[in-house]
Amino acid sequence: MIRPFNFSAGPATLPEEVLRHAAAEMLDWHGSGMSVMEMSHRGKEFLSIYENAEADFRELMAVPPHFKILFMQGGGLAENAIVPLNLSRGACADFVVSGSWSDKSQKEARKYCDVQIAASNQSSSHTGLPPPASWKIRRHASYVHVCTNETIHGVEFQELPDLKALGSDAPLVIDFSSHVASRPVNWSKVGLAFGGAQKNLGPAGVTLVVVREDLLGHALPACPSAFDYKTVADSQSMYNTPPTYAIYVAGLTFQWLKRQKEGEFEGIAAMEQRNIVKAQMLYDAIDHSQLYVNKINRDCRSRMNVPFFLRDESRNEAFLTGANARGLLQLKGHKSVGGMRASIYNAMPLAGVEALIGYMREFEQKKA
Ligand SMILES: *Cc1c(COP(=O)(O)O)cnc(C)c1O
Repeated sequence: MIRPFNFSAGPATLPEEVLRHAAAEMLDWHGSGMSVMEMSHRGKEFLSIYENAEADFRELMAVPPHFKILFMQGGGLAENAIVPLNLSRGACADFVVSGSWSDKSQKEARKYCDVQIAASNQSSSHTGLPPPASWKIRRHASYVHVCTNETIHGVEFQELPDLKALGSDAPLVIDFSSHVASRPVNWSKVGLAFGGAQKNLGPAGVTLVVVREDLLGHALPACPSAFDYKTVADSQSMYNTPPTYAIYVAGLTFQWLKRQKEGEFEGIAAMEQRNIVKAQMLYDAIDHSQLYVNKINRDCRSRMNVPFFLRDESRNEAFLTGANARGLLQLKGHKSVGGMRASIYNAMPLAGVEALIGYMREFEQKKA
């Protein structure tokens, strides 16, 4: 069976090899007689799955030893509360609003601390990023929050801001939900990173948190124990039952990522090379067409989520129906933005992007 190409923003397409591997082991994991779903999270079988997943992620993403990797639940939206519960110390936190997700984050944090918008691109409808030199960061900010890839608006930081260079000692918190593992992370600039797995790593249900050790142990008294990063870190993410099956599938994806090669590049670096090529092809096709348009400044266009519009919006439904008929799925844009959105995560092969571009050209010419 040839599977269609799935451009969903999330939960999103996974590598076919990963799905086949999980399917083959569904009833009996490694001769244990059990599905991964049926195992004790404290048994040796699951512990080996967990430890491999953590070690593989650490290796892939070059996470330094003074950072903890936590596998949590609640997704990115729960982290919008869990981060201020752990990091704000009830004081103040500063936010860069670059699209819907960072806007949601700052609104949620207001329940727990004093929030200030350090910068916003709302007046330009989130088509560009406010340059870090213009950010207003308070001297006593307990952290600065940035969403490094805005999944809905299609805006991505091509480089992490350097808060030290801006004169701030505050830890940088990044929501990297929708581009984790698509490019390397410069951990020297980061205090904490979080992301739900369902965009680029695995199934919904597990949230990855990478946190610098010195930020542990400062949770507000009201912080639920299951969401206290120190409690979670001290118990190897097993204070309560972790989302075992989601961790297992994410672990298979990490192994798949480790196997990827592109020229002299391996793993995440190989993915980054491919992601650059895929995104460039799609943006070029949009920019060179008369029908399609992407409104994001070129220097901050997302490699992962490519929103675009038909200049003749009356053709939207026909575009989507034709796409579905050709096995190009879930291209409808987010309801708050409209138009179309092609999410081209790690697991989207080049052939999928080529098929989409081929269809877009054919559709454009049909009416001309
Ligand atoms: C999807 C997404 C979220 C929300 O994740 P949930 O798992 O639904 O809570 C948060 N931030 C970004 C950038 C996202 O893409």
